[in-house]
Amino acid sequence: MLVSAKEMLDKAKAGHYAVGQFNINNLEWTKAILQTAQELNSPVILGVSEGAGKYMTGYKTVVGMVNGMLEEMNITVPVALHLDHGSYEACYKCIEAGFSSIMFDGSHYPIDENVAKTKELVAAAHEKGISIEAEVGAIGGEEDGVVGMGECADPKECKMIADLGIDFLAAGIGNIHGKYPANWQGLSFETLDAIQQLTGEMPLVLHGGTGIPEDMIKKAISLGVSKINVNTECQLSFAAATREYIEAGKDQVGKGFDPRKLLAPGAQAIKDTVKAKMEMFGSVGKA
Ligand SMILES: [Zn+2]
Repeated sequence: MLVSAKEMLDKAKAGHYAVGQFNINNLEWTKAILQTAQELNSPVILGVSEGAGKYMTGYKTVVGMVNGMLEEMNITVPVALHLDHGSYEACYKCIEAGFSSIMFDGSHYPIDENVAKTKELVAAAHEKGISIEAEVGAIGGEEDGVVGMGECADPKECKMIADLGIDFLAAGIGNIHGKYPANWQGLSFETLDAIQQLTGEMPLVLHGGTGIPEDMIKKAISLGVSKINVNTECQLSFAAATREYIEAGKDQVGKGFDPRKLLAPGAQAIKDTVKAKMEMFGSVGKA
């Protein structure tokens, strides 16, 4: 059964480790992540962006697939199904569809409007036992072809949003989505420290986990980061393994064209990536 992400992240914050959010795109992705979490006895958060939700034909399909897998695969570790960077409308759709966690990304609204909408969604989510993440300070990255440097959130605004009753908070600390540019300045631990000073027990979320060096990840966890989002890295390892299979001509040998064979190396690559992240984040054995 799906669980809210609140308890697993409160435990992570208290235990000084982080739970990975791995974004899913299809059945292979979901299966590979769930298998790895179960094998490593780790809690896990399955992230679904609006685009991925649409790709999988809608949130109800996603909920049906994930709930089916939890049962058929005998998954016993805590699993949350989380809307990633949801709009106001998408949050309501996911609450209805059976997600166990949502993120409202109101970072593009003026702070007053972000506050009002977040407040309303906190009440709607909590009424159904669903956890909710909010964001302060836009997280940069390659959007619309423009690579922006990561913004740093205002700690006072973070405190204002944290006080609305959300369960965990995403704050920009120089992190960005996608691959990091060569001239990236690194994470701002000064900002992170100032945010934690004001928000206390609130688990903090680090978006854009692909390619952040291990020492920075560990330092971020020591400063209150309890959830780390990984998306691009699974896509890169899936693509590389699939490319290798096809370039080696394996799809043309015997029944190598069978999708169950063709997609197997990519699925294994996702498992390897997720395992490495869970080990780095310290969530292994914490289910
Ligand atoms: Zn993000």
